[in-house]
Amino acid sequence: MLKDKLAILLIDDDEVDRLAIKRELKKTQLSVDICEVTTGNQVIKTLNEQYFEVILLDYSLPGSNGLELIKSIKSLGIKRPLIVLTGQGDEEIAVEIMKVGAADYICKNKVSSDLLEKAIINAIKVNQAELEIEKANQRIKETNKILFIRNQELQKQKEQINIQNLQLKRAYNLKSQFLANMSHEWRTPLNSIMGFSQLLLNQPSLSPEQIDIVQRILKNGQNLLTMIDEILDYSKLESGTFNVNYEEFNLEFLVKLTVEELRSLSLIKNIDLKVDYQLVDSLVFLDQNLLKRIIVNLVSNAIKFTPSGNVTVKVFSTEGEKIAIAVKDTGIGIPSEKINSIFQAFEQVDQSLTRKYTGTGLGLAITKSLVNMLQGKISVISEVNKGSIFIVEIPRKINMNDS
Ligand code: ADP
Repeated sequence: MLKDKLAILLIDDDEVDRLAIKRELKKTQLSVDICEVTTGNQVIKTLNEQYFEVILLDYSLPGSNGLELIKSIKSLGIKRPLIVLTGQGDEEIAVEIMKVGAADYICKNKVSSDLLEKAIINAIKVNQAELEIEKANQRIKETNKILFIRNQELQKQKEQINIQNLQLKRAYNLKSQFLANMSHEWRTPLNSIMGFSQLLLNQPSLSPEQIDIVQRILKNGQNLLTMIDEILDYSKLESGTFNVNYEEFNLEFLVKLTVEELRSLSLIKNIDLKVDYQLVDSLVFLDQNLLKRIIVNLVSNAIKFTPSGNVTVKVFSTEGEKIAIAVKDTGIGIPSEKINSIFQAFEQVDQSLTRKYTGTGLGLAITKSLVNMLQGKISVISEVNKGSIFIVEIPRKINMNDS
């Protein structure tokens, strides 16, 4: 965009030449305001005092070197287009002039209004474009600076997070180690309490009241032992020290034996505990211990959370050489909004201290990890006050390459 009136600085010692330039400028479409300077010495002073859109400079000013004068104008940081007026035969130095930053040059004896107008408009446009580029470059530089600083800050934060991560990991490992050690230590005295209670129960001299008390000691001891085992399993799973041992075994035998071991729990609550075994081929290649823990966890939960009715363990085959173990109960059910969280460690539907059902909240988290170790999946369908079905689906044979 050109200004309405262009301020032009005309530097030339020759009055005739200046008149000629002014005459030609007047003939152009441009509206100009010309300031005339006749010596090199006045140039810098005038440029410092006034603003010009364009500078027209006579290359051969007496007493000053044209090239040096252009250089000193440029060194002042004056970024105005500079058009140099050269004499005849000065074309060779034109290259030098352009090199030191002139926008254009015009041979004096070829000056015409047309040429001047074109040169001035062109020089202003180029100058405006250059200034825009410079501004853009400046903005990029500033953005780069900010980015560099942010990057440094991010790097620092990353280092801090790494340190905190290490500390957390260390604390986490310590906690797991502590849990593993403590649960191991708790087992020894508890086993002796239970062993002595068992011995006491076998005494013929006990009154019915005493038998009831000892049975309670035994039952609570058993509960405590289950919880300690869960904590131990959980810490082993977390630290990756859970031992696995794959072998071929009869699944029907394992399921029925495990369910029988849990029957006493269902008898106390008068719950009908059944097995619906539908597999034709019972041979599987898995870890017996893992599978047994999964069944124990699910069946004991089903009995625990069922006030009355029945619990059924159904074993059947599913697509792709897989077996499914479904544990169905007619218990309290699980609210739909809690279905996903119950598989997380320490999550219980009732988290209150006055809750009716005891437990660590680790059973399902452990079960899920064990099912994963067996390359299987666990899912649940439940309805509050109607009951729940936990379904475990696992391959019949573990693929050793995937584990
Ligand atoms: P815990 O039994 O020690 O509380 P679990 O991890 O085994 O911990 O189970 C988590 C929670 O899931 C239980 O506290 C209970 O709220 C819910 N839950 C698990 N199994 C059943 C079930 N069969 N019926 C109803 N709720 C269940």
